[in-house]
Amino acid sequence: MESRAYNFNAGPAALPLEVLKRAQEQFVEFEGTGMSLMEMSHRGKSYEGVHFETEKLLRELLSIPDGYKVLFLQGGASTQFAMVPMNLLSPGRKAAYVHTGAWAGKAIKEAKMFGEIAIAASTEADSFMRIPSLSELKVPEDAAYLHLTSNETIGGTQWQEYPDTGSVTLVGDMSSDILCRPLNVSQFGLIYAGAQKNLGPSGVTIVIMREDLIAPPAGAVPTMLQYATHSKSDSLYNTPPTFAIYMVNLVLKWLQEQGGAEAIERINKEKAGLLYDAIDGSGGFYRGAALADSRSIMNVTFRMENEELEKRFVKESEAAGFVGLKGHRDVGGLRASIYNAVPLESVKALVSFMKDFKQRNG
Ligand SMILES: *Cc1c(COP(=O)(O)O)cnc(C)c1O
Repeated sequence: MESRAYNFNAGPAALPLEVLKRAQEQFVEFEGTGMSLMEMSHRGKSYEGVHFETEKLLRELLSIPDGYKVLFLQGGASTQFAMVPMNLLSPGRKAAYVHTGAWAGKAIKEAKMFGEIAIAASTEADSFMRIPSLSELKVPEDAAYLHLTSNETIGGTQWQEYPDTGSVTLVGDMSSDILCRPLNVSQFGLIYAGAQKNLGPSGVTIVIMREDLIAPPAGAVPTMLQYATHSKSDSLYNTPPTFAIYMVNLVLKWLQEQGGAEAIERINKEKAGLLYDAIDGSGGFYRGAALADSRSIMNVTFRMENEELEKRFVKESEAAGFVGLKGHRDVGGLRASIYNAVPLESVKALVSFMKDFKQRNG
């Protein structure tokens, strides 16, 4: 047995060991073809099999209804920050954004280049430590869409319930929580997610989009940045990131073996519950960063009395085999990212490390 770290990295992040092993088995020769999947045409039967199976798996796992397209794009979620307004925000219209933290802020910054932006709600005054309540949202009726960030990876907050936006299209950045729980896709017009947190390695971005929203945009938009281009060609307009898509395929099969979205949600809640209980039950030694009603089950953020203690926690945790517990440099503190692929055992090990550390330093 190789030794595996207790990996709490925020992204790229832990992948299931079974998936890594399967990829290793198939790496040099893919299914009797005499070559690696990475050495073959994306127009050939073997790759196409993987490509369309990956879409099918995603459709099954998320119960994506008819009338939605699934796209495999490049450029990360960060490119979607621009592609969404480039394609959905026509001249003279405005778009609404919910400002919940670092990632929402980046999406807003890009969108401002393409039109008028209304902030439907912002939790900046609360240092982004919470998600706004649905009643706080002010969405202009004529907005082209409302954009929200389902899970703020850095702050550690997550929407518990999505707003019903009526006739206004809802757009969601689900980069750090897609498939962590069941999802009612039909509430959204467009969902996007970089793969490297919950779906696979970096290199591919998933877009799930209602077909009626896919139209050649009004202004001058480069061919590669039009959803219509990729939709028409089933994400094979140019060379797709074949390896990344193949890895997503394996991760989705693994997820299916775990029992799908409902089963993984139970496990995710158990993992998050163990950590939040350890934080809340520490008598103030550890303090949850996000407000309780906005806590993420993917990124558990917490603080200690002072930075010195936090530094010692990071250092000692690393010596004990834990990776990735230092908070994002913009906000400091500590963060345990517990995406789908992080085993329950890793979380249990972290909980006992936290208790032990508190005993020694409390
Ligand atoms: C990581 C992340 C991004 C950025 O993803 P890239 O693929 O690096 O562009 C965007 N939004 C959220 C919520 C993220 O967690």
